[in-house]
Order: sequence, then C-alpha cells, then structure tokens
Amino acid sequence: MLDKKILKIVQKMLPPISKTELEALEAGDVGFEGDFFSGKVDWKKLLDMPEPKLTEEEQAFLDGPTQELCDMLNAWEINNSAKDSADGMGDLPDEVWDFMKRNKFLGMVVPKEYDGLGFTALGHSAVVMKIASRSVTAAVTVMVPNSLGPAELIHEYGTQEQKDYYLPRLANGLEIPCFALTGPDNGSDAGAMPDTGVVCKNDKGEIGIKMNWSKRYITLGPVATLIGVAFDMKDPDGLLGDKKEIGITAALIPRETPGVEIGDRHRPMGIPFQNGPNYGHDVFIPLDKIIGGQEMAGQGWKMLMESLSVGRSVSLPSMSVACGKLSTRLTGAYARIRRQFNLPIGKFEGIEEPLARIAGKTYMIDAAMKNTLQMVDQGQKPDIPSAILKYHTTESMRTAVNDAMDIHGGKAIIDGPRNLFQDIYKGIPVGITVEGANIMTRNLIIFGKGIFSSHPNILPIYKAASSGDAKECSKETFKMIANVLLNKGRSFFFGLTNGRGSHVPVDDKDMAKYYRQINRLSASFNFSSAMALAHLGGGLKRKERVSARLGDVLSNLYMASMVLKKFENQGRQKEDLPLAKWAAEQALHDAEVALHDLIDNYPNKFFASVMKIIVFPRSLLPFSARYANKAPSDVLDRQVVQSVMEAGGARDRLTDGIYLTDREGEQIAILEDAFNKVIAAEPLEAKIKSAVKKGELDSSSLADAVKANIITQDEADMIEIANAARDEVVKVDSFPSKNSNYSNGKPKKAKSVKVKAVASK
Ligand SMILES: Cc1cc2nc3c(=O)[nH]c(=O)nc-3n(C[C@H](O)[C@H](O)[C@H](O)COP(=O)(O)OP(=O)(O)OC[C@H]3O[C@@H](n4cnc5c(N)ncnc54)[C@H](O)[C@@H]3O)c2cc1C
Repeated sequence: MLDKKILKIVQKMLPPISKTELEALEAGDVGFEGDFFSGKVDWKKLLDMPEPKLTEEEQAFLDGPTQELCDMLNAWEINNSAKDSADGMGDLPDEVWDFMKRNKFLGMVVPKEYDGLGFTALGHSAVVMKIASRSVTAAVTVMVPNSLGPAELIHEYGTQEQKDYYLPRLANGLEIPCFALTGPDNGSDAGAMPDTGVVCKNDKGEIGIKMNWSKRYITLGPVATLIGVAFDMKDPDGLLGDKKEIGITAALIPRETPGVEIGDRHRPMGIPFQNGPNYGHDVFIPLDKIIGGQEMAGQGWKMLMESLSVGRSVSLPSMSVACGKLSTRLTGAYARIRRQFNLPIGKFEGIEEPLARIAGKTYMIDAAMKNTLQMVDQGQKPDIPSAILKYHTTESMRTAVNDAMDIHGGKAIIDGPRNLFQDIYKGIPVGITVEGANIMTRNLIIFGKGIFSSHPNILPIYKAASSGDAKECSKETFKMIANVLLNKGRSFFFGLTNGRGSHVPVDDKDMAKYYRQINRLSASFNFSSAMALAHLGGGLKRKERVSARLGDVLSNLYMASMVLKKFENQGRQKEDLPLAKWAAEQALHDAEVALHDLIDNYPNKFFASVMKIIVFPRSLLPFSARYANKAPSDVLDRQVVQSVMEAGGARDRLTDGIYLTDREGEQIAILEDAFNKVIAAEPLEAKIKSAVKKGELDSSSLADAVKANIITQDEADMIEIANAARDEVVKVDSFPSKNSNYSNGKPKKAKSVKVKAVASK
C-alpha cells in the first residue's frame, strides 16, 4: 500500500523524459563526480589513481614529428593566407597537410592494428595541446578526425568490414572525415534534427535509405571525403520490420555520392580552418553505410553521447590548457621584462591580480584535464566530468587570454608576426561555442543531466517509477531519503565546525583544510540538491538558474579535488604550493558563492530558510564571516606571480608541454632569451642603484659605474645586452601604407628582426 503511494508521488514529481534524453542520460559512466551526488568523497579512490604519464612512444612523437610540425607552422602566415589560396579563404600550406597525413596526425586514436598510432587519451591530448600553442587552425584540423567523428564511431560501433576498410584509410589520411550533426534548426538541441532518411527501394529493387539533410558549421566539411551524417531514420513501408520510427542513426557518406552538395566554406572568426555547410538531396545509400550496419539503426544518439563523453575530455580542454599555458609563460616573462615607472610591470599590485588569475586558473584546468584523461585511459567514459571540463577549461581560457592581453597592452593588440595572442584570442569563441555553447552546458547539462545520470538513486527511482515497479521505487526512495538525512546532519555539523571532524586523507598541513572544505560542501551539495528536487520536481528542468548554481557547486568541487590530486601527483613540490593553494581556494570560494547565491535567490522562502540553516549554520551566530572559503588573498596572488616571473621550477612545470624553440627569429625564442638576460642583469642594475642611493655614484650611467668599480666592463656589457633584448621584445609591427613618407612610396615589407635567441628549457 505504502509502496503504491510512494510510486504515485514519485511519478507525479519526475519530469517526462524523451527516448533521446534517456539515451543521453544512460550514455557514459559515473565518475568521481558521483561522490558529490552521494555527499561523501571517497578520497582513497582518487588518490590511489595512478599519475597520468605519457608512454615513451608518445613522448618521442611529441619531441619528433610534433615539434617538426610546429616548426612548420606560422600562425600569422596561416591567418593571412587568404590572398594566396586558390579559393581566397586561406588554408594550411600543402606541405603541412601532407606532413600531418604522412605522420598519422589524423589517426592518433586509430588502434595500431588498423595502422593508426593507438595513442592514449593523454598522449592524444598532449599532441593537440602542443600544436594549439602554435596554431589554432592546425590544432582544430588535427582535433576533429581524432575526436567525435567517423574514426571513433567506426572503431567503437562499426562492422568488421567498415573497420577493415575505413580505419587504415583514416589513419593514413587517405580519407578526410567530418561529422555532421548540427543544422539550422538543430543547434543546442542537436537531437531535434529535421534531417531524414527514409527506407525505400532503388530502381534496381535494392533496399536502402533515401536521405535529405541540411547541415552547417561542419569542421573539415569542405575538404572531407567521408561525411558522417546524423539523421532521423524512418521506415514507413515496413521494409525492415514493424518499427516505422527508427530514430537517430549515423551513416558514412562518401563525398562523391550523387545528391551530396559540399565544399562551400564558412569563415569562423577569420581563422582559416576548414568549416562549412553541406546538404543531401535524395541521396540513396545502401544499409551497410549505417555505422555498425542495420542493427545499429536508431542507436545514433546513444553512440554520439558515449563518444562525446570521451572526445569532450580531450579536444577543447587541450586547446584551452594550451592557451592558458602560453598566456602564463608569455605574460610571466613579459611582466618581468617590460618596465614602466622604472619597475618591471609585474611588480605592480594592479598587474599581480590578473597575472595570478592566469597562472592559478591554468594550474586548475591542467589538473582537471590530466586527471580526467587518466580516468578515460582507465576505460571510463566520464560524461559529466567531460562537460565540467569543457565548460571550465574554455571559460578559464577566455579569462586567461583576456587577462594576458590586458597585461601586454598595445603589444597584444597590434597585429603582425610579433603578436602571439591574435590567433588564440580569435580562437576563444570558437572553443566556447563548439560542442554545444557554454551557457547550455552550465545551465542545463552539468547539474540537470548530472542529477539523473550520476546520482546513485535518481535514475533507479525513475526507471522503477516508469515501469510501475512500486517495490523497487519505494526501496530506492527510502535509500535516498536515508542518505539525504545523513548528509543533512553532516552538512549542519561540518558547517558549524568548518569541516573539522571530517576525514582528511593526507598529512599535509597546508592542504588539509581544503579536503575538509570539500567534505563539508559535498554534504551541503547533496542536501541542497535534494531540497531543490523535492520542491521543484520535474520543474527543476525549467529553473535553469537553480540548476546552473548547483552545477557551479558541483563543478568547482570537482576542480578543487583535481587540484589536490595534481599536487599529490607531483610530489607536493614546495615551489608549486602557492599555485595549488590559489587554485583550490578559488574553486572552493566559487563553490561557496554559488551556494549562497542559490539560497539568496531560491524561488521559495521556506525551502531557502531550511537550506540556509543546514548549509550555513554559522550564519545564525553573531559576528560570523559570510564565507568560510575566501577568494585568494593579495599575499597569495603575489606568491603566485613570483613563481611565474622566475625561470625554471614552478614556471616550467606549469607550462610544460607547449611549443618552445630556440630557432632564430621566433617570437617565443626572442622572449625567452630576453627573460633570461633581464634576470641575469637585474642584480648588476641593483648594484648601480644602490651605489647611486649611497652617493657613491652621481648617475646610473654604465660608464660611470665601471669607472667607479661598481661593476666590471663585462657586467656593463651584460646590462647593455639585456636592454637590447628588452627593446626587441617591446617592439610591435608596422606596415607601409599609401601615406608612408619614408619608403619613397614603395611598398615595404613589415620589418622582421633576426636575433640570436636562446630559449630556456
Ligand atoms: C566553428 C564551429 C565549428 C563547429 N563544428 C561542428 C562540427 O564539426 N559538427 C557539428 O555537428 N557541429 C559543429 N558545430 C556546431 C556547434 O556544436 C553548435 O554551434 C552549438 O552546438 C550551438 O548551436 P547554435 O550555434 O545553433 O546555437 P543555438 O542553439 O542557436 O544557441 C544560441 C544560444 O542559446 C543558448 N541556449 C540554447 N538552448 C538553451 C537552453 N535550453 N537553456 C539555456 N541556453 C540555451 C545556447 O547556449 C547559446 O548560447 C560547430 C560550430 C562552430 C561555430
């Protein structure tokens, strides 16, 4: 009797879920984020996970062909290649395409048995990251065939025949793939595609599918030879069986198939990677063109969602981490080299704030990406963590690049070969928009999907309720209530003690408080989620700001945990402590702010008051601070900035994996060279300054300082050399115009400077 009552209540509360939504919910695995939904973190599970490490073969590929590819790339020339390219739209040079194909850059995820490189997710990511730090166009070009697309789908779901034929061709670049899901009427709501495939017979009486589609924004589409197309399959005449609405299906369409219209190009932010629309008009394909053959007809959405949970962990996070690392390395050096008011600009408090943010966020996203990739390499398909990664890495990239540009001032604005920011700046919105725009990822997916797919009880309750299994439904409901009551107590108690009394798995005094806060906020997250669900039920889907804030709590707890894991992985490096503390404090502060905002704005006063008492019991006490987790302090900001303005150590570990070179004339080499020379000259300049202060010297002239034996001639030369190197870094490009009066009216090339440069490792 009670079981039936519970079943009725639950059936009323839960939202209706469509078939595609259910498939999406069931796709992928529950990862570490599941611990936050259950309210208790299993630290042992996280800390026992091995450190992410590249194989020797992957490292050799990075040091060999990837370095060589990066040497061939020049973002400035690529972004200005339109005038020299056949279609006037720009492209990578032919020799770069050939090199990438020959060295299997397009087949990194294809297993070795099919002639691919068979790289791990970490290895694949490391290659994309290094290329992205050199050219966004090249990175996107390499990303797509290795991400969600034909190769991965054929490998996971294809028939043996499809694997044998296509995988070696894809690995060797004999086929260029693309995957077409998005259309004018299905962007964020990708499953709502109007593109159809109707089962029918052709003139010869063979059964196949007649397809019609209209797709846009398809990366590599204009040059693709093999088009993966997602469409809604129907069998109105029952040629395959009783089912008339078969559902979303993925098929492989060779470019030359009659009725395919392809080749036009979009211009995404003026970055010339290949992207464009394509159309199908009554395209007839045999059934064996369905990925996985006839038996996978209608399984397309599940296939896509499962593949997305892996691909989404690699491509855009790798590009974003590359931008964060490049911004950190360039800006840390520039802040030391560039002087205003007689001081390196990094010494100003105003610069400390954004520079600490660049470095701290980069530490955070690098930690989250590498540890999530380790989970992928252990065989998981971490669906919600991959959405968290996509959102946080691309947003942090936006912050880091914007901050870096502010610090560089005009140097980052003036276009030309000396500007290393133009390419990545244009790439920001591309990274944010693709694979579903971030607003939706934050408002709808991270918590909205996570509560169903990663919560230990909700999906079992939903399944039992929809199948009318009253016993199972009440069993799971009671399990959930017991868990929520337990977390209610934990949240209240830890709220009072500030996490004291909860389990800390390490004996590291500096970091213990962060483990405690994650324990506390996990219990609070579990309780607040349950309250929102109890109050809003299926309506939670429409209350996107509630969902977004709970998602922010979840994702920031995930990011903070990954930071702690990275710090442990790297052997608790003392020099990295400020970075790890900054990243943990920022994530925990953001999680707590999200909880406060949730309660302050909650659409029901009663539920808000209950949450406030349980989650923030200290708010009932007099003189209690609003936030237990404060944002990183000014002192911590300064320590972080110092670590990225020094050569070696923390700076090298943080920016590890981006493209560095000592090739003559390369901007990054010129900057690194100046950085080292400026650091070497600083103590000598300090000697002169001190002598002037003491009255031993009248001026800071080098000649006088040598004469007065304050410094030697060699040391004076070192200062001169450092000043020349600094001047070189500060330069920007200028181009002759019709108004130029110092080039005899003749067009002059932009000045490019050759300087012997030495890059530090
Ligand atoms: C350069 C580039 C390359 C791409 N490559 C490919 C590719 O190779 N293959 C492919 O299939 N697709 C590709 N895409 C498509 C990409 O995934 C879509 O652009 C993306 O999913 C968003 O769709 P849309 O642009 O139509 O935005 P819309 O769906 O129109 O969304 C507009 C805004 O509304 C928001 N929004 C929508 N619904 C909600 C909601 N319920 N709640 C809150 N906010 C909401 C979105 O977040 C967004 O901010 C690419 C796109 C670009 C720009």
